[in-house]
Amino acid sequence: MFDVSRIRRDFPILSSRVNGKPLVYLDNAATTHKPRVVMDSVARFYKLQNSNVHRGSHTLSNAATTEFENARKIAASFIGSPDPAHVIWTKGATEAANLLAYSLGDLLIKPEDVILVSTMEHHANLVPWQQTALRKGATLVPVPLTDEQTLDISAYESLLKKHRPKIVALTHVSNALGVINPVEQCCHLAKQYHATTVIDGSQAIAHLSVDVKQLGCDFYFFSGHKCYAPGGVGVLWGKEDLLKAMPVWQCGGEMIKHVSFDHTEFNDLPFKFEAGTPPIASVLGLAAALEYLSTLDRQAVQAHESALRRFVVDSLQQYPTIKVYAPFAENVGIVSLSISGLHHQDAAFLLDEHGIAVRTGHHCAMPLMESLSIQGTLRASFALYNTREEAETFVAHIIDLLSSTMASNQPIKPNSDQT
Ligand code: PMP
Repeated sequence: MFDVSRIRRDFPILSSRVNGKPLVYLDNAATTHKPRVVMDSVARFYKLQNSNVHRGSHTLSNAATTEFENARKIAASFIGSPDPAHVIWTKGATEAANLLAYSLGDLLIKPEDVILVSTMEHHANLVPWQQTALRKGATLVPVPLTDEQTLDISAYESLLKKHRPKIVALTHVSNALGVINPVEQCCHLAKQYHATTVIDGSQAIAHLSVDVKQLGCDFYFFSGHKCYAPGGVGVLWGKEDLLKAMPVWQCGGEMIKHVSFDHTEFNDLPFKFEAGTPPIASVLGLAAALEYLSTLDRQAVQAHESALRRFVVDSLQQYPTIKVYAPFAENVGIVSLSISGLHHQDAAFLLDEHGIAVRTGHHCAMPLMESLSIQGTLRASFALYNTREEAETFVAHIIDLLSSTMASNQPIKPNSDQT
C-alpha cells in the first residue's frame, strides 16, 4: 500500500498554511516541492564541500568532483542510460531543447527539410525548432490531435510518410493536458523513416519509469525541478554517435581540451556540451531526488496519482458547465478544465483564497489552446504527496464556485447524460 502520510512527512512545506487555510498544492506540473533529503544534500554541499568541480588540485574540489560525477551515474541509471557520459547537465529542459535545436539542427537540418512536432508541445520544445527551421530554410510541421485531444497516430504516420522529417520532437506527456503520448510507438515509426527523435520528458519523469533504451529515442531531456529536485538543473540524454557528431553549442571553460588563438580542441563527452561552472549543488540535489524516487514503488505512485485524477474528473465531468479536456486519455495526474461563465483566472484567485494552488492560462502551449479554440484552462496537477482529502477539497470548492457564480439560467446540477 502506498502510504501518502509517510511521504508527506518528507516535505516540510506541505504543513504550511496559505491565506489561513492548509495548503492544497495542485500546481505540481509547474514545479514540485522538495523532500528533506534534497534540501539536506544541497545544504551539505554548501556547508562541507563547497568548491568548484573538475579543475581543483585540492581535497574539497576533488570530493565535490567525485560527488558530482557520481550524480551523473545516478541520473544515467535512473533513465536506463548505459553510459553516464551520455548524460549532459543543462540548466533545465528549455536549455536542453535549445542546445538540440542549435547543435542537432546544425548537424541535420538543410533547406527544404521538415521538423515534425506535435500540436501539444510546450513552447520550450516548439519555439527552438521553429527558429531552427527559419534559420535553415526548413519547415516545421505539427501533428494534429484527435477529437479526444490525444496525438493522432494515423496523421503522425501519414506525415512521416509524406515529409520524411529529419527530426521528430515530441513531448512524452502534455503539460497542459497530462496526456501520455505513445512515445515508444512514435520512435519506432520515426525510425522507419530515418528520423532522429527528441523526447521532452519534463512532465513524465516524476510519474513514469523512463528507460531511454526501451523508448527507442535518440534524445530525452527533462528539468530537475519537476521531479522534486532544485531549480536550475536539467538532464539531456543522447545517443553517443549523434552527441559526438554534433557541433559544440555554448563555448567557454570546461568544454575544451586545448585552446590557442587560432584553434580550440574540444573536450570529450559529456563535457563538450557543459561550458562554464555547472550548478553543482543543484546537480547533487537532483541526484538525491532521483534516489528518493528510486526508493519508492513507482507503479504505486502512478496508481495513486491516477486515482486522484480519476476521482476529480469523474466528480466534475458530470456538470454540464464544466469541460474536462482529454478525460479518458492515459494521463499522469493532470486535470485541465474550463468552466463556462467563469474565467479560469478568476476561478484560480477564488481557489487561492482557500489555500488551493492551481495554474491557469495557456500553460506555454498556445498552439494547443488555439487548436482547442480556447484561451486557456484551469489546471490541477497531482504529485505523489497529494491526498484524496485534497482532491475532495478541490472538487468541493469548484462546485461551490459553480453555485455562486454561474448565471442563474444555467443548470449546475450534475447532468446524468454525461456520467
Ligand atoms: N516541456 C514541458 C512539457 C514542460 O512542462 C516544461 C515546463 N513547464 C518545459 C518543457 C520547460 O521546462 P523549464 O521551464 O524547467 O525549462
